[in-house]
Amino acid sequence: MGILITLGLALLLAFWAAASSGLLWRTRRLSASERATLAKYAISYQRAHAKDKARMERIVATMVHDKEWLGVGLEVADEMKVMIGACAAQLLVGHSDLVLKHFERFVIYPDSYRDRRTGGMRQGEVRPAAGTIVISWDDFVNGYAHTRDAHNVGLHELAHALWFENSIVNGEDHFLPPVLLQRWNTLAEAEMGRIRAQAPSFFRDYAGTNAAEFFAVAVEYFFERPLEFRESLPEHYAVLCSLLKQDPAATLVLN
Ligand SMILES: [Zn+2]
Repeated sequence: MGILITLGLALLLAFWAAASSGLLWRTRRLSASERATLAKYAISYQRAHAKDKARMERIVATMVHDKEWLGVGLEVADEMKVMIGACAAQLLVGHSDLVLKHFERFVIYPDSYRDRRTGGMRQGEVRPAAGTIVISWDDFVNGYAHTRDAHNVGLHELAHALWFENSIVNGEDHFLPPVLLQRWNTLAEAEMGRIRAQAPSFFRDYAGTNAAEFFAVAVEYFFERPLEFRESLPEHYAVLCSLLKQDPAATLVLN
């Protein structure tokens, strides 16, 4: 009896330790209808290999079930969470255990919204101090409706979140190797210089704004125009493949 109670207590403690370390929520599964939404609408998931599909499902499950979702003037439907989760999975799939821990909340606007500080219109933003990723649903859908124009607000904002996540100490930080980051920053500086000098660049002008925007815009091109990106800026492309541990151009050729 005493042994049983001790065993029970040990199991309970193990459960608590796993729950508090995040092991349990990382293994949470998608429901059948969530998986059906993913399979029906998420192109990156449809194209992925079986091994990557399993990893993507875990990321989507974490996004859907463990992040807080706030709608501003709309109710955030489960399908919306799955599709934004799929966008996160597209970006994070190469990393075996990355779920943007610091960002605990998604705020979803129905449409582009006015920035209270600047008065300008926004399609999304990342607020690292508040651990929040903001996305306009209409613009998110548009991003995936036009798959080859390298405009994708979901990938753009999540790329910003990834960039911050790497430097915010939270247990999953500093996952981008410093040597690679240094190489990336050097290449980014060179290309931003070209953009600012109004020399022809593969990227749109906005990439020249600063290092964070350069990275976010590069991620949009990486996923939406990978073959042209690899052709135009092979070194930038190769370093980004290493940083994100995946090669969309190769996946595109195979499919
Ligand atoms: Zn941006």
